[in-house]
Amino acid sequence: MSKKLEGKVAIVSGSGRGIGREIALKLHREGAAVVINDLDAAPAEEVVKEIIAEGGKAVACVGSVTDKDFGDRFVKTALDAFGTLDIVVNNAGYTWDNVIQKMSDEQWDAIMDVHVSAPFRILRAASNYFREAAKKEAETGVEVFRKVVNISSISGVQGGAGQANYSSAKAAINGLTKALSKEWGRYKVCVNSVAFGMIETRLTSASAEDNATIDIAGREIKVGIRPEMAKNAAAMIPMGRPGTPQEAAGAVYALCIPETNYVTGQVLVVSGGR
Ligand code: NAD
Repeated sequence: MSKKLEGKVAIVSGSGRGIGREIALKLHREGAAVVINDLDAAPAEEVVKEIIAEGGKAVACVGSVTDKDFGDRFVKTALDAFGTLDIVVNNAGYTWDNVIQKMSDEQWDAIMDVHVSAPFRILRAASNYFREAAKKEAETGVEVFRKVVNISSISGVQGGAGQANYSSAKAAINGLTKALSKEWGRYKVCVNSVAFGMIETRLTSASAEDNATIDIAGREIKVGIRPEMAKNAAAMIPMGRPGTPQEAAGAVYALCIPETNYVTGQVLVVSGGR
């Protein structure tokens, strides 16, 4: 049976770990070649190795999505390695929470930068290729659909206490999604968001000591949820538990396949019903 994404080329930001990693593996297992990005080289290289070991095609593009030239570098890596670009997944990111009276400008700017400005620059870089390719395809009377999936959050749809920065950024990415769906319909590029509820990754794993941190470019950022909070949060999910990264990746994959070619400008909430 032929795979649904055979011959397609995808770039997935933040795909060294968590949800991004599972998205990259899923797209590869359905036939796509994938450019793996992460801030951290080691996990990115590991995912590349895993895909190649399974007989697939992957290359790494290590670095921060917030670097001003990153978008151009990311798109160029796909074109140089595989000659085309069909799927862009803007997934890289993290949370840096605090109540508004304790939230610094640095905290606000960093979260807006990684979740909104970086996807904007990546998509601006991709637009050059998308427009050229679509024009050529239109001349020959062929319709080729391309896909953008921006990763949002239910915090961006409903708001989250302690997350003024993150809720604003994840709402803004949905605005970018909707604007580009209007600009790019003529190029047959579907642009959608997936807004996740609670998915089990290092960002949400319950930490007994209440002191779990991650290193983001030298900044120590507190993450994790206290066990009692995690229990309460899970109790609010109609399906009774957080989602797995594999379940999260499945929703992104659904927006990348030909069956959803007429779906664009949408925010798909993937939250177990919450
Ligand atoms: P994760 O920490 O497991 O993985 C995120 C990856 O992104 C990490 O490998 C990290 O190194 C990378 N990254 C972070 N900043 C980067 C940067 N500037 N440049 C390049 N790479 C960078 O987290 P996750 O839970 O898999 O989160 C993935 C996405 O899903 C994020 O956008 C997050 O906001 C979103 N999300 C997660 C949840 C959840 O419950 N886990 C819920 C809603 C939305």
